[in-house]
Amino acid sequence: MNQKLKEKYEKLGICKEVYEFGEKIEKELEARFDAIDSTAELNQLKVISAMQKNRVSAECFNISSGYGYNDIGRDTLERVYADCFGGEDALVRPQITCGTHALALALMSNLRPGDELLSPVGKPYDTLEEVIGIRPSKGSLAEYGVTYAQVDLLEDGEFDYEGIKKAINEKTRLVTIQRSKGYATRPTLSVERIGKLISFIKGIKPDVICMVDNCYGEFVEEREPLAVGADMIVGSLIKNPGGGLAPIGGYIVGKKECVENAAYRLTSPGLGKEVGASLGIIQSFYQGLFLAPTVVSGALKGAIFAANIYEKLGFEVVPNGTESRHDIIQAVKFGNKDAMIAFCEGIQAAAPVDSYVTPEPWAMPGYDSDVIMAAGAFVQGSSIELSADGPVKPPYAVYFQGGLTWYHAKLGILMSLQKLYERKLVNMDGLC
Ligand SMILES: *Cc1c(COP(=O)(O)O)cnc(C)c1O
Repeated sequence: MNQKLKEKYEKLGICKEVYEFGEKIEKELEARFDAIDSTAELNQLKVISAMQKNRVSAECFNISSGYGYNDIGRDTLERVYADCFGGEDALVRPQITCGTHALALALMSNLRPGDELLSPVGKPYDTLEEVIGIRPSKGSLAEYGVTYAQVDLLEDGEFDYEGIKKAINEKTRLVTIQRSKGYATRPTLSVERIGKLISFIKGIKPDVICMVDNCYGEFVEEREPLAVGADMIVGSLIKNPGGGLAPIGGYIVGKKECVENAAYRLTSPGLGKEVGASLGIIQSFYQGLFLAPTVVSGALKGAIFAANIYEKLGFEVVPNGTESRHDIIQAVKFGNKDAMIAFCEGIQAAAPVDSYVTPEPWAMPGYDSDVIMAAGAFVQGSSIELSADGPVKPPYAVYFQGGLTWYHAKLGILMSLQKLYERKLVNMDGLC
């Protein structure tokens, strides 16, 4: 037991019992942490290769303004993303305001009135309900005459191949596959499983566009979904690929045609990728991508650490303590509002920024119940930084993710446990 560390943690408010329990769990995870480091190393080399191949230079970090014609920093970055993720082309822009915007853009630019969108993996992420028009909303795909079909996963988490086959029809134009569980307690999909699903779908209808909502999945595995047949992957730069440094942005990587459609929708028909000044933040996109494999590895370690801690304490955790990982999200079902709130307070109290505030449930645009969010982030709302959130409704599940470093993630989890322990919401007798 490292005495100096123990004292430091104690000064930060972590009692002996919580610290020792944490150390015991961490010891048991050595082999898994080594495997995560190996994946990070491979992904680091992948990013560096893509940067070298595209001759990234100091010139790429120059500020462009106005129309942003001939912005070589922006254009080079898009080639780096395309190579790194295995696509023909990419759109990586600060003008894409968030993940939902990137997904809405990809959908609205690649679908036309009369087309049908299919989700073969159940209900998509909450904010997409309004994009699609599952919940009626101004400007939704439904308003433009794009219909929607959904096939849920089977009880055991498997794909409903029969149902999917039945759902694909002459109107089906685009299939959206969400890699991460988001705010659902279904399993996250591995890249391998996504590949199997895409092969099945293309076997029925070869020209259908397969889009993967890649949020939270980037750099968790050695491969990304474009390697297994996806036509386009979509995500947010204030999650994994921004590495904690990108202050805004989203990306679409994939087939040239899909990316082109998105570009003409983002700016304007006729303009496409040619305009869009990067206003001096492009360096953070490069640097964030460079750091992303390591940052993601720290977040993954945090997720696994949390799973093992809370599983031992008797809570249901998804994924469970030993399962393989395909995104950085950890769900813990507390089944109890007080425990959920205590957990979030602990995460907040461990933050480098805003550690003194207390998170409270509030109504957020895009969500149909109050949401509690804990985050003390350098970039507002960034969920590659240590954060926890969840809709305040049964089963009172908290979705925990991020941590720019493993050490911070560890402190956050220990602090969350400290809050539960102090309020007698957990029983640690005999565990440490
Ligand atoms: C975060 C997320 C989104 C939406 O991204 P925002 O940046 O929050 O708009 C969509 N899908 C999934 C799976 C996500 O995790």
